[in-house]
Amino acid sequence: MEIFKSHPQWNDVKKICGRLREQGFTAWLAGGCVRDGLMGEVPKDFDIATNARPKKVESLFNKTVNVGKAFGVIKVVVPSGDIEVATFRRDGNYTDGRRPDSVELATPQEDAKRRDFTINALFYDIFDGEVRDYVDGIKDIQKRLVRTVGLPQDRFMEDKLRILRAIRFVAQLDFDLDQTTYDAVCLLNHSVTQVSWERISDELTKLIQGKKPGRGLKLLRDSGLLDVLFPEMAFDPKAIDWFAALPGEKNKKLLGWIFLISLITDVDQHDKTCRKLRFSGDFMEDIKSGLEIATSLRIFDRLGAPEKRKIAAEPLIDTAIRYLELKGEMSALVKAFIAQNRTLPKPFVEAADILSLGITPGPQVGKLLEEAFDAQLEGKVQNRGAAMAWLKSKTQQKPSP
Ligand code: ATP
Ligand code: MG
Repeated sequence: MEIFKSHPQWNDVKKICGRLREQGFTAWLAGGCVRDGLMGEVPKDFDIATNARPKKVESLFNKTVNVGKAFGVIKVVVPSGDIEVATFRRDGNYTDGRRPDSVELATPQEDAKRRDFTINALFYDIFDGEVRDYVDGIKDIQKRLVRTVGLPQDRFMEDKLRILRAIRFVAQLDFDLDQTTYDAVCLLNHSVTQVSWERISDELTKLIQGKKPGRGLKLLRDSGLLDVLFPEMAFDPKAIDWFAALPGEKNKKLLGWIFLISLITDVDQHDKTCRKLRFSGDFMEDIKSGLEIATSLRIFDRLGAPEKRKIAAEPLIDTAIRYLELKGEMSALVKAFIAQNRTLPKPFVEAADILSLGITPGPQVGKLLEEAFDAQLEGKVQNRGAAMAWLKSKTQQKPSP
């Protein structure tokens, strides 16, 4: 496929497949990269499937990492990044609703059958240029249809994450969801809570970053999944439009999650839901900060000058503005003020100045610095001299202990 040639890993992919092939093994591209290639899109990464056993794969390459011998997956370390080489397998029985109990070497047909959706179950032989399709995946790509390999109910019962993946792929690729597959999503929606929150969180982030997140959110809501995952949310149908606007946004991951979290009306619940979703501390802070800035922007006219200036200089101000704009709640006047005041001035006085007035080091110093800076932002003091005079009069009024 012509499109693969523009991928930075293409040379390494060719080398790895070539090495396996010269040893007499089959080495095919598999899964998402074949799907993307057939759609004329550059894949994120490449996965290789082979009939060489993991031990053999390890022996053929200089540097490898065993990412799960039980699953037969070996990462080959190459200059362009790691490439996963997986041995064809059929999955054993499912007991915990997620992981297969055992993995055996299998035929390519069997390996295709254990994959989640027909569009993800294709192989591509880079040497003869043939797509190996055992599940009518090419037809579904042409029809733009997400359909399980095999009976949806059975496949969802085996691995509940697939329920969410079905909707994620609809959003990611702008595909339709096959009706029988959709019926099974609705029927089994309650069991999605058996999946770890890390994986739920990852799938939702991919949905947010897809081509049609609005479609994804609508399906999550219509299928009942949203209620199962987030009973704490009060859904607002307008959120589908907010989501629909995400693809054009710079900070879509953060913005998308801010939209979702904002549907939780009880603000005290926000932290709990962020923790449930296993967000990093930084990401959680960003969500909180975005929502707090938006709250301040809504009541901007009632704030004092120093506060206005500080909000205008917040790192996440643009995200908060886009959040309100997409909701149709952003005032043009406030936006203009912010555009004029994106950076804060350098403070006229610093801690050493305050200590020079005989103030003992401690929390008092920080408080005075803040007050002096506020006086500066309010325009009460116009230069360093005035700021020092202001400080002196202030500290003389209230001598420090
Ligand atoms: P993306 O473009 O998001 O990476 P992808 O199709 O590569 O999409 P991955 O999650 O990276 O998706 O998985 C790689 C492949 O492994 C899939 O294409 C699919 O064939 C198979 N797969 C992944 N997760 C499952 C699952 N839960 N059940 C069955 N097969 C799966
Ligand atoms: Mg992938």
